[in-house]
Amino acid sequence: MHRVFVNSNSPRPVTIGILGGGQLALMLARTASQLGMRVHVLEPATNCPAQHAVAEFRSGDWSDPAILLEFAKDVDVITLENEFIGAGLLADLEQRGHVVLPSSKTMRLVQDKLVQKETLSRAGIPVVEFESVTSEQDLTRVSATLGFPFVLKRRTFGYDGTGNVTVSSAQELESAVQHLGGYKTGLYAEKWCPFTMELAIMITRSSTGETALYPVVESRQDNHVCSSVLAPADISDEVFNLAREMALRAVDAIEGVGTFGIEFFLLQDNVLLLNEIAPRVHNSGHYTLEACDCSQFENHIRAIRGLPLGNTELRSYAAMVNLLAKSNGSGAPCGIGEALAVPGARIHLYGKLRATPGRKMGHVTALGDSAEEALATATRAANCIHFEN
Ligand code: ATP
Ligand code: MG
Repeated sequence: MHRVFVNSNSPRPVTIGILGGGQLALMLARTASQLGMRVHVLEPATNCPAQHAVAEFRSGDWSDPAILLEFAKDVDVITLENEFIGAGLLADLEQRGHVVLPSSKTMRLVQDKLVQKETLSRAGIPVVEFESVTSEQDLTRVSATLGFPFVLKRRTFGYDGTGNVTVSSAQELESAVQHLGGYKTGLYAEKWCPFTMELAIMITRSSTGETALYPVVESRQDNHVCSSVLAPADISDEVFNLAREMALRAVDAIEGVGTFGIEFFLLQDNVLLLNEIAPRVHNSGHYTLEACDCSQFENHIRAIRGLPLGNTELRSYAAMVNLLAKSNGSGAPCGIGEALAVPGARIHLYGKLRATPGRKMGHVTALGDSAEEALATATRAANCIHFEN
């Protein structure tokens, strides 16, 4: 028998603690409160999207063990909206009896992209060729092995392409290393992948072992940042099944509990490589709010509470378009009226109080009779919105 509203040991509602207060935490919090749960958030920044949507918001440094512990004491389960909190800190919480999902073990295998690639390779999951880079000597050797262009990446703390540099020639090596913060930051290199399409799949694995897979979607990027998502992807059944099978093996390999975003590169001849695992709800799954009975956010909450997972089938074709800021500014959105007047467009704004170029300020989802038609609707609405300078 599953109990949703009341923890068996106490009369208060189940309380979910989220580390991180961005838009992912905001959408998780809305779902959790719909299920009668309370949400607490710990986030270093003030004025973040989830701040006013949760029962308790704590502004604090999550790399401080004392602050983390204090936060953990008041919640039933801790979850994460990003991969930036050290696995060692999470392991300390677990050792003190707190439930952290995904676990510190999962986070240790995923948050360092080099360790993640090694883990996936060991599990027999195809990934792009990669090499560790710890010195100038390494880099010279690696650029000969991988050839130009290749992608130099930060092992940790990368997001929206911020930790990546494409290196096209030997002359660019030095500046690429400097741009990423030097060898001491922790770097690795990937062979350039001549993909024909980027795919993604959301997968939820519950603490009970139950799994639920969402459809495979196409994820389009501009300048290493996701600009839109089409659901489902226009791919063969063979690729569709392969992506699902690889996603299942990947979450298995990291013993994941929760919702995970798995990104793929599709190459010629139906070759599929796993690009990366995001150990959390993910931008490529935002469409599930409108297009599926049970969104990625709801299934995440269900998974970490051991509740039955919900239906992940698509109701119809769907598309999502990110609202990215073009310049620095206050973040105040303009053109909302015009966007809302586009029939079928669902507007999501994250309430961020500062815009920087490329920052994700919101997204628009639409359903349609084809993914391209849904994309056209979402794009029409998205094009109405801009953010004040
Ligand atoms: P996000 O947070 O958006 O998922 P990220 O910062 O974690 O991104 P990656 O997923 O590694 O970074 O890379 C972002 C994008 O850069 C990819 O979606 C892809 O378009 C491009 N890219 C990354 N690695 C390669 C590669 N080896 N070859 C070609 N393109 C690549
Ligand atoms: Mg990525």
